[in-house]
Amino acid sequence: MSLKKSFAAATAMAGAITALSFMAAGSARAQGALVMYCGVQEEWCRAMTTAFERETGIKVSMTRKSSGEIYAQVKAESQNPRADIWWGGTGDPHMQAAEEGLTEEYKSPKMSELQDWAVRQWEQSKNRTVGIYSGALGFGYNTDLVQSKKIPEPKCWADLLKPELKDEVQVADPNSSGTAYTLLATIVQIMGEDKGFEYLKALHKNVNQYTKSGAAPAKAVALGETTAGITFMHDMVTMVVDKAPVKVVAPCEGTGYEIGSMSIIKGAKNMDSAKKFYDWALTADAQKLGADAKSYQVPSNKNTPVPPQAPKLTDIKLINFDFAKYGSSAERKRLLSKWDNEVKNLPK
Ligand code: PLP
Repeated sequence: MSLKKSFAAATAMAGAITALSFMAAGSARAQGALVMYCGVQEEWCRAMTTAFERETGIKVSMTRKSSGEIYAQVKAESQNPRADIWWGGTGDPHMQAAEEGLTEEYKSPKMSELQDWAVRQWEQSKNRTVGIYSGALGFGYNTDLVQSKKIPEPKCWADLLKPELKDEVQVADPNSSGTAYTLLATIVQIMGEDKGFEYLKALHKNVNQYTKSGAAPAKAVALGETTAGITFMHDMVTMVVDKAPVKVVAPCEGTGYEIGSMSIIKGAKNMDSAKKFYDWALTADAQKLGADAKSYQVPSNKNTPVPPQAPKLTDIKLINFDFAKYGSSAERKRLLSKWDNEVKNLPK
């Protein structure tokens, strides 16, 4: 072969190789990647990411944030979505995003395996978000501190207003945290709006810090940085399992609960991967990963064993939480701005 001919052949071969590798990279980009916004605890987010990558070969880029923060990011990116799937966090911002058309309609073949409350969440959102777990709101306290400060053991929402707990209660900010928004909606549903806001203003006097993340007060209680913390009960259970001196309380007046949810982002660039993740995340096996990561919610797949550590929803006085109303865009915006104006900036 002449030099010229062999150069031409080599050039053609190189061109073909480049074209082939370009096609491979293109298909990897289209099918082999997933961008996930994750709303639960970091350990569970990482366990889900690793297991899904191992099972499918799809590379996951995961960011962990609080529920309200993910909603704000999805809304800000709606013209050019970065994420494909929003997994976890309380249902209210998922419902708001559904109403605002920020998420996609999807019916998974796994729907028949889910608890009624998970399916109802999907129906109420017009097929745009689905329940993946549930858990009741409550509070916890540090038993050593309660004993050493001689504070009567708090059992009710009303007990958190006692002067002995001045600057000793921690809870998140409902703008960033789904946990704290669940508290806001729960108190308003139990007490009515006027009395509920009176309660939240009185509670403000005892709050030492509004954290960004809903579960942060559970860690602070465990470490003795605050005497009491308002969180989902399962977040306090995690501390008890880790042998911290923490008592978990289901408030005597009754309490609200969450339906942790999952949505596919409208205009997702990796839509096939998003649907694959969605179907997989509803399976009994994937849902078992929660308990392994010390997250003790009640799973939505009927075949996933409920972790024995999970607070028993049937033993707790649960209110009839109106998820459609308190997840609606207008109500959520109204309550959050009322809380900002009337509670957050009150002098102590
Ligand atoms: N972590 C756990 C274990 C939860 O159950 C929830 C609620 O869905 C969250 C985090 C939500 O956190 P945040 O209140 O920061 O939005």
